[in-house]
Amino acid sequence: MDFGPYIRDIENFPKPGVVFKDITPLLKDPEAFQKAGDALLAFTGNMKIDKVVGVDSRGFIFAPMLAEKLGAGFVTVRKSGKLPYTTVSESYDLEYGTGTLEIHADAIEKGEKVLIHDDVLATGGTAQAVCKLVEKLGGEVVQCNFLIELTFLNGAEKLKGYHKKVLLQY
Ligand code: 5GP
Repeated sequence: MDFGPYIRDIENFPKPGVVFKDITPLLKDPEAFQKAGDALLAFTGNMKIDKVVGVDSRGFIFAPMLAEKLGAGFVTVRKSGKLPYTTVSESYDLEYGTGTLEIHADAIEKGEKVLIHDDVLATGGTAQAVCKLVEKLGGEVVQCNFLIELTFLNGAEKLKGYHKKVLLQY
């Protein structure tokens, strides 16, 4: 299935000069939604996966479904201050300043195999920080998958050494 027609460009969002890829047309279409989930699942082949990490907040749409289908646990990585228990954190560069992501300290056991999922790979700062969080807890990142990669932002550079899979590249 060609998912391209279900991704909408929003100019000047969230700020002037940015063209935001809006995935909500894909989500609201029953067939595209289901097939996108199936395609993300197919990326994992017959990999053994213990935990699926979804990234705040659009990573939370498909990651729980992937976890359920893989027989894995679902873990959230959230922006700072949202998680209630003891956390481990990682800061990363944003266009202006830094952002911080957190994971619960007991979310992943040493040696567990981890799939990371987010909707979009842009500059790669987010995904790289999530990889570091998983590794701080002793997990092994076996794949990072995304609906969309914005290749002109070179996020793949930050994910060198990791297995990356994407449905759509721009
Ligand atoms: P990065 O850290 O790779 O620059 O940005 C990736 C993060 O920002 C992801 O969590 C993603 O949800 C969000 N993001 C950045 N650009 C876009 C975009 O054009 N569309 C969507 N849906 N999310 C974006």
